[in-house]
Amino acid sequence: MREGDAPGAGPVGSMKTKKLFNSWIIWVLVGVVAVVLFLPMVFGNNSAKVDTSVGLHQLTSGNVTEAKMFDGDQRVDLKLRDSLKVDGVDKGTSVSFYYSTARAELVVDEINKANLGKFTDQPVESNWLLSMLGIIIPFLLIAGIFWFILARSQGGGSKVMQFGKSKAKLITKDMPQVTFKDVAGADEAVEELHEIKEFLQEPAKFQALGAKIPKGVLLYGPPGTGKTLLAKAVAGEAAVPFYSISGSDFVEMFVGVGASRVRDLFEQAKTNSPAIIFVDEIDAVGRHRGAGIGGGNDEREQTLNQLLVEMDGFDATTNVILIAATNRPDVLDPALLRPGRFDRQIPVEAPDLKGREQILAVHVKGKPMDATVDLNAVAKKTPGYTGADLANVLNEAALLTARSNANLIDDRALDEAIDRVMAGPQKRTRLMDEHERKVTAYHEGGHALVAAAMNQTAPVTKITILPRGRALGYTMVVPESDKYSVTRNELLDQMAYAMGGRVAEEIVFHDPSTGASNDIEKATATARKMVTEYGMSEKVGAVRLAGSAAEQGMGTASRDFSDEMAHLVDQEVRELIEQAHNDAYQALMANRHVLDRLALALLERETLNQKEIAEIFSDLVKRDKREVWLSNEARPVHQEGPILSPKERAASSTD
Ligand code: ADP
Ligand code: MG
Ligand code: ZN
Repeated sequence: MREGDAPGAGPVGSMKTKKLFNSWIIWVLVGVVAVVLFLPMVFGNNSAKVDTSVGLHQLTSGNVTEAKMFDGDQRVDLKLRDSLKVDGVDKGTSVSFYYSTARAELVVDEINKANLGKFTDQPVESNWLLSMLGIIIPFLLIAGIFWFILARSQGGGSKVMQFGKSKAKLITKDMPQVTFKDVAGADEAVEELHEIKEFLQEPAKFQALGAKIPKGVLLYGPPGTGKTLLAKAVAGEAAVPFYSISGSDFVEMFVGVGASRVRDLFEQAKTNSPAIIFVDEIDAVGRHRGAGIGGGNDEREQTLNQLLVEMDGFDATTNVILIAATNRPDVLDPALLRPGRFDRQIPVEAPDLKGREQILAVHVKGKPMDATVDLNAVAKKTPGYTGADLANVLNEAALLTARSNANLIDDRALDEAIDRVMAGPQKRTRLMDEHERKVTAYHEGGHALVAAAMNQTAPVTKITILPRGRALGYTMVVPESDKYSVTRNELLDQMAYAMGGRVAEEIVFHDPSTGASNDIEKATATARKMVTEYGMSEKVGAVRLAGSAAEQGMGTASRDFSDEMAHLVDQEVRELIEQAHNDAYQALMANRHVLDRLALALLERETLNQKEIAEIFSDLVKRDKREVWLSNEARPVHQEGPILSPKERAASSTD
């Protein structure tokens, strides 16, 4: 549901077919068919046809003045002295009859015997034009059918008709303008692109100072974060033409066409400079060369080479800037990233809390909101959502509001929209049997209770046992602010929280279900990372062990440590899981009555919000446990970057 837009996937419909009918091939075919149909009418003989016996009788009876014998047609045309009457019907003075090969000699004899003043023999190839057409038409028909099928399979007739010509759209200045104001929560990227905009507006200023302007800018980041939007905004701000094409369009082309398209695209942009060329999904053409199965894709390589050639051909006065976008910067051919090519690389990340609020503010324009709606609160509920997700949330909310015949979008609609965008539409029809509902209520209750009882977890903002997507229910804990690093105690608490659902099932039913498999997977992954990547196991120490969690998941594990070490890692991981299990158990046992109360409320109301949860947890016994990491030499344990994405951290779901 967070896939980006798929350019080039337009409908193959009547529109395209119509286009094909406009093409010259169809008119040539129609013309040829018309000529063939009309020629015999114009040049053909329009004398009356008579039986062979009647014709021969005319010859013997001496009524014929002139005979014309067509060998190819096996026909004889006769001119008569007196007009001929057959069965009372007047046939006029010119008649013709056909004869079979066996009778040909007899016919010749009769003509000779008739002693005519005039007779003519017509050889076989009498009508060369018709004969030629007879050969050409089937050929043209086959060619036409071939073109038609090809056009359909290519997804549009236009493509075939003008292959080799660039399909890039020139977005003229009177098209709707996107500016940097329409892009929210991407301040760093916008700042970097400001320079590009200034260069496009006033190239002379930069050239006078001898400043080297980047030829290519690569925007990379997850789908839906606004890369296309940013590229358009640069063109909009600088008021220059925007040529855009998608890498995947090149790949589906005929052999040799991709390269000529690139040439054409640059040609067009240069003649209209200053201009922007936007190559979306550049990874489709720009993949590491020779990396494909079976020696790679020649077509793609040619296209990529042409792209590099064109970029190298830019000089200081070529006021064209190439902007490319990808969500797979890791697979790009290094040649693309060398200086003088896409040497300016700008990350476009999912927005943070403030960014989300700003994006929401951009997209609420034109949507009447209830006065009680707080965009900050909505932003808090949507960690990890991209700009496209947020635009989608507001749109869904508007649709829901319209469907319920209300005038203003309120919190209820927004909440429902958030859930839809996160996990697909609610499955109200999916029936869970009573026992399964109860297990789910205790499972989700277990997560929530452990989360609330531990020190280091964020507040629980929502619990539901309404099945959504693949999840039977979920518990949502939302951090107050976006976090970029996590401490050991926080990880321990997160693991306890993950185990909470499973442990609650054990305590209440003494018969755990499969619903916790995802939780166990998460907890195990965290534990393994703590041991092999974060240096958070005393016994193993602060070493990074290759072949750790992520690589094992990819099946590319290549272990560079001993069997003993592997054994120790496994032991430590188990130890951490056991500990998390125990933490969850202690927290739940200390609050057994709260767990029952929570499960009951869930079974009754299905979904609980933050306020309702806080009420139920009013007399919760907190589990005040904090491990102190001791170290004899001052040995700082560093961590960089976020360990779990906000979305990962925010929602834990059961299968
Ligand atoms: P990408 O190219 O990164 O996949 P798009 O630029 O196609 O993402 O974004 C899709 C839509 O999501 C945009 O048209 C816009 O409506 C919305 N959007 C994405 N990011 C932002 C943002 N930072 N600010 C405002 N709207 C955004
Ligand atoms: Mg895009
Ligand atoms: Zn769970």
